[in-house]
Amino acid sequence: MTKTKPILTVTMNPSVDIVYQLDSLKLATTNRVTSVYKTAGGKGLNVSRVLHQLSCPVLATGIIGGNLGEFVTQQLDAIHLAHDFLSTTYPTRNCLAILHDGKQTELLEPGPTLTAAESVHFIQHFANLLPKTQLVCISGSLAQGLPSDYYVKCIQLCREKNIPCLLDCANEALVKVLHSAAKPTLIKPNLSELSQIVHQSFSEDLEKKLIDVLAKPLFAGIEWIVVSLGSEGAFAKHNDHFYRVYIPSIEVRNPVGSGDATVAGLAYGLVQNLSDEKILSLGNACGILNAQENETGKINVQKLAALREQIQVMKI
Ligand code: ADP
Repeated sequence: MTKTKPILTVTMNPSVDIVYQLDSLKLATTNRVTSVYKTAGGKGLNVSRVLHQLSCPVLATGIIGGNLGEFVTQQLDAIHLAHDFLSTTYPTRNCLAILHDGKQTELLEPGPTLTAAESVHFIQHFANLLPKTQLVCISGSLAQGLPSDYYVKCIQLCREKNIPCLLDCANEALVKVLHSAAKPTLIKPNLSELSQIVHQSFSEDLEKKLIDVLAKPLFAGIEWIVVSLGSEGAFAKHNDHFYRVYIPSIEVRNPVGSGDATVAGLAYGLVQNLSDEKILSLGNACGILNAQENETGKINVQKLAALREQIQVMKI
């Protein structure tokens, strides 16, 4: 039975995602856009939307600013998704995806550079929200200006309050956490993110290599490690148990955000105290359902139960 406290999602560098559709993109001349979509973007917001569709109480936080920050909150209000962001004077960024000639060209703004005072202020804001939450999901890159060990501080606060914390980030922010004493409850790297961290390729003998790598001291103390493998499903370690998740092959529309949907499913499974197998099948089912939609962070909940029947979780 789900407790009534919400899951808190953290998006430190949200965006307004703009999708421009045009027949073909020509450089150094005027291009006429045939259609425009604008949505509130950022990995934590994708997690939030999927949790919301699963009817799990959710509270979205992070840092927003200016008119684009207001657009983000208006979009959340429109679907009655609760939020409590810290406002900065610097405007939230735009991220532009141009769909043209059967391709996608992306232009991503860096987003605001936060000050040291804002960095401290958000930590206070986050600490104040913790008593109201049962689990925290931190997703995505840090805003500019924040130290690379910023998530270490967030996780420390969760640990002090005994609140499980899921972390889905890459590169330096993740490395800092792995080398710290503040262990998240779960991390969800995809294979290329894991490869970058451990400086190893996983082309052959995948399962054997993953067992060896995840047993390294670098990952000690992290209860759950879920390595998502795109269309190949996932590989997971929960304490001393290893699992392979096999998924059905599906027709893919847009797999962007599938990792975020997976995190949402895993989080929802964890707060319901489901078995390892059920947590993993729920996470993967959400990832697959996201890949079957055009919109990022959208799942067809009607298809969830039948899809979970088709997912096989094998203990290794
Ligand atoms: P990320 O978005 O973080 O790179 P993945 O691409 O590994 O994460 O996707 C997360 C999960 O979503 C996968 O473990 C799988 O269950 C599902 N998924 C992703 N892409 C596909 C796909 N092309 N076909 C079927 N399922 C997919």
